[in-house]
Amino acid sequence: MEFEKFKTMQFPRDVYVGHGVLPNIVPVAGRYMKTGSILIITGKITYDLAGKEVETHLQSAGYDVKVIKADKADVVNLQMVEEEASGKHIGMIVGVGGGTKIDLAKKASYDLNVPFVSVPTSPSHDGIASPRASIRKEKLTVSQEAAMPIAIIADTQILAKAPYRYLRAGAADVISNLTALLDWKLANRLHGEEYSTSAAAISEYAARELLEKSHMIMEGVEESVWLVTKQILASGTAMAIAGSSRPASGSEHLLAHALELSNPGTSIHGEQCAMGSVVSMFLHGGDWQVLANAYSRMGLSIRAKDYNIPDTVVIKALSTAHRIRPERYTILGEKDISLNASEKALEITGII
Ligand SMILES: [Zn+2]
Repeated sequence: MEFEKFKTMQFPRDVYVGHGVLPNIVPVAGRYMKTGSILIITGKITYDLAGKEVETHLQSAGYDVKVIKADKADVVNLQMVEEEASGKHIGMIVGVGGGTKIDLAKKASYDLNVPFVSVPTSPSHDGIASPRASIRKEKLTVSQEAAMPIAIIADTQILAKAPYRYLRAGAADVISNLTALLDWKLANRLHGEEYSTSAAAISEYAARELLEKSHMIMEGVEESVWLVTKQILASGTAMAIAGSSRPASGSEHLLAHALELSNPGTSIHGEQCAMGSVVSMFLHGGDWQVLANAYSRMGLSIRAKDYNIPDTVVIKALSTAHRIRPERYTILGEKDISLNASEKALEITGII
């Protein structure tokens, strides 16, 4: 048989991470902007935090800059951004913010086919370096294909200003790669799903680094931000190699999404992933306590009560989480987990 395998990988070309790297937006624009204006997508708070500075640097370098302040990453705002950009000859889009602004910017860049630069202001999840965007349509959030950033400018001085809750959530999002990898291997063994050893190795490395250094993830320490951000970027690389979110998203993410749907607003993504990874590790028969201990060292609670999520909601969410993304095979299987088994797993792991 002839060899017919092929794959495409897209990586960011420039990654600036560390203290005071924000001014590098100017050389980045110099390299990837051909003609036209630069569109900055940011929010009210994130504009003050970093958007204004990005705008000033670019304007001083002679670029024409337009700023859009949006709040949610939903279809309405996406349309607004794309209408705003149409006919204006936008040469580059810069997303400045936490998850939602980055998501909007990367989806708009993808749709409009212009280079996208990611300037995260919060280290709360691995979306700052991935080619997937979560866009809300009515009540449902769907993960869609979006632009891989051509450059990432992650200034730890700015990221350190985000509340500590976001940092430890970002760390948990990366640590939870460990269960995503078990799910991926399972899907490979049971269903022959394409598996990439190199993507898995990088994803696992990122997770283990943070697991081992969880005692160094502390409030108010810029170096903690550095540690976490580097591994968020590594996680993004793993997804770029795999060409999917598989190395970083398995059953723990299914539970996270199920919790977000059934009890929105009280817990953030990384916290939901932390809960998900502990119970998923238990279901895999792995050492879930190692994960629980690491989260506890970072001050991250995995108790649903601490996020005002009723026990019944978590039990139901775990039992039905597999329905969220049926094509993504995980330890949660293809049938609802019985409510009894779900309750037991959550009780043993201390989530309820
Ligand atoms: Zn995630």
